Amino acid sequence: MAFEGLTERLQNAIGKLRRKGKVSETDVKEVMREIRLALLEADVNFQVVKDFVKTVRQRAVGAEVLESLTPAQQIVKIVNDELTKVMGEEAVTLEKAPKIPTIIMMVGLQGAGKTTTLGKLALKLKKEQNARPLLIAGDIYRPAAIDQLKIIGQNIDVPVFSLGTDISPVEIVRQGLIQAKEKKNDYVLIDTAGRLQVDEKLMNELSEIKQLAEPNEILLTVDAMTGQNAVEVAKGFNEQLNVTGVVLTKLDGDTRGGAALSIRAVTGKPIKFIGQGEKMTDLDVFYPDRMSSRILG
Ligand code: GDP
Repeated sequence: MAFEGLTERLQNAIGKLRRKGKVSETDVKEVMREIRLALLEADVNFQVVKDFVKTVRQRAVGAEVLESLTPAQQIVKIVNDELTKVMGEEAVTLEKAPKIPTIIMMVGLQGAGKTTTLGKLALKLKKEQNARPLLIAGDIYRPAAIDQLKIIGQNIDVPVFSLGTDISPVEIVRQGLIQAKEKKNDYVLIDTAGRLQVDEKLMNELSEIKQLAEPNEILLTVDAMTGQNAVEVAKGFNEQLNVTGVVLTKLDGDTRGGAALSIRAVTGKPIKFIGQGEKMTDLDVFYPDRMSSRILG
């Protein structure tokens, strides 16, 4: 289960205060030491942990905790508030173009869940906004990526624009956008190629697609299971493409929490959605406060 270790360690650390009436500054220090270790062990970015612990400690040695008759509860509240802040505070919704179509470009490393997430997002838009999306198959390198997208399209009853693998992704996107305008699709969702790691060729190709399509959203899909690596990947993609948001996938797995808690603080970009399973309905808007409560258990 996601965050299992982190939840348990945070609960244990704070739980020690429950047995006390009033707490001292030393007690708070001890709890903060354990919270710090718990976060580092959950693979949260070092600087993020440092800043977080400093803020929580400052608040926790104040009167609201030291003079409280329920110090553990007060600390839980402070930790909850600050975890929420680290993850961005409010849910951030998708941008919408003033004139259709709204163009969403999906980027990410191979296996992160781009293609699946694109299908999930198309279905969500269809269900919630009665949208008429078009999917564009722009990943011409991974064997079977186009077929995978076509199958997803069939399952959710959304058209897929494809020109096979012998034509450049930029050209595919160009023609796909023309079709979308003709058919008055209100959303265009572009699938792009991934690699096993961030490289220059991939970034150049994605930059070209970005220039041509002028997307309203560039969503970066990252795999939550990969922890700090996901954060590094997010940094790399963001520096090259200035992404508008992140989709964190595989939060149904036993991820430790590092990616969820670090990405916003490290990249400055919001997590907009989370993937919580392989089914087409397993995509949710990311709410920092709900995630914080989930982490605290
Ligand atoms: P891409 O290479 O980035 O396009 O990745 P795919 O969309 O092909 O996904 C790679 C694998 O991850 C597939 O087996 C997906 O079913 C799986 N996957 C994607 N998102 C999730 C998720 O939120 N949870 C789980 N458990 N699996 C996911």
